[in-house]
Amino acid sequence: MAYQISATKLQAYNRCPYAYYLRYERKLTSNEFFGSTALGTALHQALAQCHRDWNYQDPLPDVRWVHHCWAQNSIGLTANQIAEGTEILENYYRTFIASETSIHQPLAVEGKIHGFLQVENLEFLIVGRYDRLDFLEDGLELIDYKSSKEIKLPDDSELDVQIGLYYVALEQTYGQSLKCLSLLFLRLGEKIQFEAGPEDKEHVQEMISNLAVRLRYDRGWEPTPGSHCDRCTYTRYCPAVNRDPQPIPEATSKSQLQLALNL
Ligand code: SF4
Repeated sequence: MAYQISATKLQAYNRCPYAYYLRYERKLTSNEFFGSTALGTALHQALAQCHRDWNYQDPLPDVRWVHHCWAQNSIGLTANQIAEGTEILENYYRTFIASETSIHQPLAVEGKIHGFLQVENLEFLIVGRYDRLDFLEDGLELIDYKSSKEIKLPDDSELDVQIGLYYVALEQTYGQSLKCLSLLFLRLGEKIQFEAGPEDKEHVQEMISNLAVRLRYDRGWEPTPGSHCDRCTYTRYCPAVNRDPQPIPEATSKSQLQLALNL
């Protein structure tokens, strides 16, 4: 059984190995993750249907196709949410569909990525998901829809991790290089693109091999304080920010490494 790694996990590791250790190895629960909203989920599903099910023999859908997809995916939302979603999707249609002469069929929508890396005699399974994957002339474009009201970009280091992991997994799955990651802000009609390259892959390989050594020998989980400590839910256990840290509770279930090694 491989040790599972995702962009979220590797980003957490990159921020602070000690917080990673508490969260993923000692299994201390934290409330740092919030689920996506019902409106955001419905928008993602409507766009997936819009790009997946369009008859690509016709070059361009008209706005009724977008309305149709929204009607199918907005069941159960409030009247306000439905109206807000309609406005967002009409804006999306005007900016990213009606302005084109034709649209191209994506390679995949709402896809999952899987990839493998073998480091320190440990097998890592890379997992993740994306909203849309498009073919470009010279590689792949990975598109993530964002339904936030303002443009909030991840830190550069978090983006590098995400791009590098996707690079590895997509190259293994499709035999093609990732050329860019695009964040598409639905409410604002803006697309922000980040280039990807082999250096991103090398960067995450190095990071995973660093993680593998810590997992293998179960040491080196040193706290790395920084501005991220303000959002950390493990401060009470952390010697870097607490003069008298509490003892770490016993794990309630096996760590992933124990499962991977079948201990
Ligand atoms: S408080 Fe800061 S240094 Fe301590 S575990 Fe949390 S993120 Fe790491």
